[in-house]
Amino acid sequence: MPMIIEEKIYTCRRCGSSNLKKNGKNRYGNQQYFCKDCKKSGVLNPKNSYTETEKEQILAAYKERPSMRGISRLYGISRNTLASWLQKKSTHSQT
Ligand SMILES: [Zn+2]
Repeated sequence: MPMIIEEKIYTCRRCGSSNLKKNGKNRYGNQQYFCKDCKKSGVLNPKNSYTETEKEQILAAYKERPSMRGISRLYGISRNTLASWLQKKSTHSQT
Protein backbone atom coordinates (compact mmCIF):
# COMPACT_ATOMS: atom_id res chain seq x y z
CA MET A 1 0.00 0.00 0.00
CA PRO A 2 1.50 3.31 -1.02
CA MET A 3 2.09 5.85 1.66
CA ILE A 4 0.75 9.21 0.75
CA ILE A 5 1.71 10.93 3.92
CA GLU A 6 3.60 14.04 3.06
CA GLU A 7 6.77 14.17 4.97
CA LYS A 8 8.99 17.14 5.11
CA ILE A 9 12.48 16.37 3.99
CA TYR A 10 15.07 17.63 6.37
CA THR A 11 18.67 17.93 5.47
CA CYS A 12 21.80 17.96 7.55
CA ARG A 13 23.02 21.42 8.32
CA ARG A 14 26.62 20.37 7.96
CA CYS A 15 26.77 18.07 4.93
CA GLY A 16 23.35 18.54 3.33
CA SER A 17 22.51 14.86 3.47
CA SER A 18 18.91 13.82 3.99
CA ASN A 19 20.01 10.56 5.52
CA LEU A 20 18.89 11.62 8.95
CA LYS A 21 17.52 9.83 11.90
CA LYS A 22 15.31 11.49 14.44
CA ASN A 23 17.10 11.62 17.71
CA GLY A 24 14.56 12.52 20.34
CA LYS A 25 13.97 15.93 21.78
CA ASN A 26 16.14 18.03 23.94
CA ARG A 27 14.83 19.48 27.17
CA TYR A 28 13.54 22.54 25.37
CA GLY A 29 11.29 20.38 23.22
CA ASN A 30 13.20 20.85 20.00
CA GLN A 31 13.31 17.82 17.75
CA GLN A 32 16.84 16.69 17.22
CA TYR A 33 18.43 14.68 14.46
CA PHE A 34 21.41 12.51 13.93
CA CYS A 35 23.08 12.52 10.52
CA LYS A 36 24.07 9.05 9.44
CA ASP A 37 26.53 10.43 6.93
CA CYS A 38 28.65 12.86 8.89
CA LYS A 39 27.58 11.76 12.37
CA LYS A 40 26.51 15.22 13.34
CA SER A 41 23.57 15.67 15.65
CA GLY A 42 21.67 18.85 16.08
CA VAL A 43 18.29 20.52 16.13
CA LEU A 44 16.15 19.28 13.28
CA ASN A 45 14.13 22.27 12.35
CA PRO A 46 16.06 25.47 12.93
CA LYS A 47 14.09 28.61 12.33
CA ASN A 48 15.30 31.79 10.82
CA SER A 49 12.82 34.01 12.52
CA TYR A 50 11.79 34.01 16.12
CA THR A 51 8.92 35.56 17.95
CA GLU A 52 9.66 38.10 20.65
CA THR A 53 8.69 35.51 23.26
CA GLU A 54 11.10 32.94 21.89
CA LYS A 55 13.77 35.57 21.68
CA GLU A 56 13.29 36.55 25.31
CA GLN A 57 13.37 32.90 26.28
CA ILE A 58 16.60 32.28 24.45
CA LEU A 59 18.22 35.41 25.81
CA ALA A 60 17.15 34.43 29.31
CA ALA A 61 18.68 31.01 28.81
CA TYR A 62 21.86 32.66 27.63
CA LYS A 63 21.97 34.80 30.74
CA GLU A 64 21.79 31.68 32.87
CA ARG A 65 24.38 29.86 30.89
CA PRO A 66 26.44 32.20 28.72
CA SER A 67 27.62 29.69 26.21
CA MET A 68 26.93 30.66 22.61
CA ARG A 69 27.78 27.20 21.41
CA GLY A 70 25.45 25.60 23.95
CA ILE A 71 22.56 27.93 23.21
CA SER A 72 22.94 27.64 19.47
CA ARG A 73 22.92 23.87 19.76
CA LEU A 74 19.90 23.80 22.07
CA TYR A 75 17.75 26.12 20.05
CA GLY A 76 19.16 25.59 16.60
CA ILE A 77 19.85 29.27 16.39
CA SER A 78 22.88 30.52 14.55
CA ARG A 79 25.57 32.14 16.62
CA ASN A 80 25.42 35.18 14.37
CA THR A 81 21.75 35.67 15.16
CA LEU A 82 22.38 35.29 18.84
CA ALA A 83 25.31 37.69 18.72
CA SER A 84 23.24 40.31 16.94
CA TRP A 85 20.51 40.02 19.55
CA LEU A 86 23.02 40.41 22.33
CA GLN A 87 24.41 43.51 20.67
CA LYS A 88 20.98 45.05 20.24
CA LYS A 89 20.13 44.16 23.82
CA SER A 90 23.12 45.98 25.20
CA THR A 91 22.65 49.11 23.11
CA HIS A 92 19.00 49.20 24.13
CA SER A 93 19.63 48.95 27.82
CA GLN A 94 21.15 52.38 28.26
CA THR A 95 19.42 54.32 30.95
ZN1 LIG B 1 25.59 15.40 7.82
